Amino acid sequence: MPENPQPLSGNEMPRFGGIATFMRLPGTTAPTDLDVAVVGVPLDTGTSNRPGARFGPRGIRDESVLLRPYNMATRAAPFDSLRIDDTGDVAASPYDLLAAVEAIEEHFDGLLADDVMTASMGGDHTVVLPILRAMARKHGPVGLVHIDAHTDINDTMFGSRVAHGTPFRRAVEEGLLAGDRVVQIGVRGTGYAADDFDWSRQQGFRVVQAEECWHRSLEPLMVEVRDQLGEGPVYLSFDIDGLDPAYAPGTGTPEIGGLTMPQALEVIRGCRGLDLVGCDLVEVAPIYDTSGMTSLVGANLLYEMLCVLPGVDVRG
Ligand code: MN
Ligand code: MN
Repeated sequence: MPENPQPLSGNEMPRFGGIATFMRLPGTTAPTDLDVAVVGVPLDTGTSNRPGARFGPRGIRDESVLLRPYNMATRAAPFDSLRIDDTGDVAASPYDLLAAVEAIEEHFDGLLADDVMTASMGGDHTVVLPILRAMARKHGPVGLVHIDAHTDINDTMFGSRVAHGTPFRRAVEEGLLAGDRVVQIGVRGTGYAADDFDWSRQQGFRVVQAEECWHRSLEPLMVEVRDQLGEGPVYLSFDIDGLDPAYAPGTGTPEIGGLTMPQALEVIRGCRGLDLVGCDLVEVAPIYDTSGMTSLVGANLLYEMLCVLPGVDVRG
């Protein structure tokens, strides 16, 4: 096996030069030679309000050029520990949502057949349904750490069963999740009825509303989450609107009073030790954010996820 794929240094090619892959990885490694496939899912046909998450993967790749390989805070060295590369995007139809969902599922089935973990860039949150279908086919029902302003457990939206606000209802119905190993963090805002959050609780999910997170460190919460989720496969899904719009305005359905940037880092870093089998960062819609900040945040959070995957060494 050749040397691990490495991000291109800013001293070899200026950071603003070259072809944009996630973190300037080579983008040439076959999935069969990888431990982790970074994959873009440019789809926003499932969006209920402002579209634009189809540009998420490009935005994240663009802003990820500034990232360096070593995590100064946690001492994780993901690219030395694991073979990680950007494997490109899923070719999902922008015209036919159900066909797109099928294409995503097939794509992830292929990646998982090669025994890779996946780190995905959305796309709106619809994309997690076909990903979870592939994950459950491979690993059985998975635990879930879900950060979001919304529980995404609607039965239907405008009559459709597949949309960005329904994936976790479908996932429960299809037996993709281990209900008592699911936590939803950061939910808030206006709803239609109390059931918006209570349905989750009735499934055995732990629902942590944003108000419970205000003004405090989330490190103690993550101790409890690790305890609750225990052994067994876990999927991590991070909707960027879990963050307060002050940090991530470039998204389709922003809600006030969200998580802070340090809290987001505490949640992801608190996932170290879980048996993560895949992760995603969804709902980045760069066009609502002229500063590029939301994509920059998305790139950093996806990097932090790579740092807590099983097998990543922590180096002095
Ligand atoms: Mn969501
Ligand atoms: Mn959301």
